[in-house]
Amino acid sequence: MVLTGKLLFIIIIPAIVLFMQARLALADDTWQLDDSAELSDVEEMELGKKVDEYIRHQFYLHNDPELSKELNDITHRLSAVSERKMLPFTCNIIQSHSINAFSAPGGHIYVTEGLLKFAETEDEVAGIIGHEVAHASLRHASKLYREFIGILSQRDKGTDFAETLLLFNCHLEEFEQEADTTGVLFAHKAGFNPNGLPDFLERHLDLLIQNGVLGLLRFGSFTTISSRIGHLREYISSLTLKE
Ligand SMILES: [Zn+2]
Repeated sequence: MVLTGKLLFIIIIPAIVLFMQARLALADDTWQLDDSAELSDVEEMELGKKVDEYIRHQFYLHNDPELSKELNDITHRLSAVSERKMLPFTCNIIQSHSINAFSAPGGHIYVTEGLLKFAETEDEVAGIIGHEVAHASLRHASKLYREFIGILSQRDKGTDFAETLLLFNCHLEEFEQEADTTGVLFAHKAGFNPNGLPDFLERHLDLLIQNGVLGLLRFGSFTTISSRIGHLREYISSLTLKE
């Protein structure tokens, strides 16, 4: 995947942070969800539409029909082997030199120009998109949304806020690991090389070390990324052993 433009800086924004920002931005919105434990597909798609509008306000989208088609073909191959192929999955390109990908509820996936420029193979891009498809397939947005609403109400009551926040952070890491392995499984099932994701993460980690920015990133610490890579390599060897 080749895009012109210079790599200016690299930062990882965990998808969920963006989702939370979007949720806060929507706090005054008249649109409300009911209080049931899980979002229905329709509710999730409605929420996704709102978050997508927010993201389109915050970022410029890169308009390249050919590249878009290529990315959406990859996305549809991956979503076709997921548990939620009924969701209208779409992949958009964000004008940014940072290397990042994230998703909004309801099947909206975003990758940056910087990420596409950095990716060396289609398998690497499929690994990244697979991770985002997995978040949707595993209903992570819905689960975190409920948890987040709970945290906000606890904060208002002033009870055990720090402890709840810590637990929430643990869940974020669990969800990341779950999306990693499930995404790699989707990539494998869809006919991509499952090593695409760990290959990408490994090269990205090297770049972060070279740029000396690791220490600044809470979610991008060396141990977190290298344990993700190690876990993925192990999972992939168990996948290929089964065949
Ligand atoms: Zn993720």
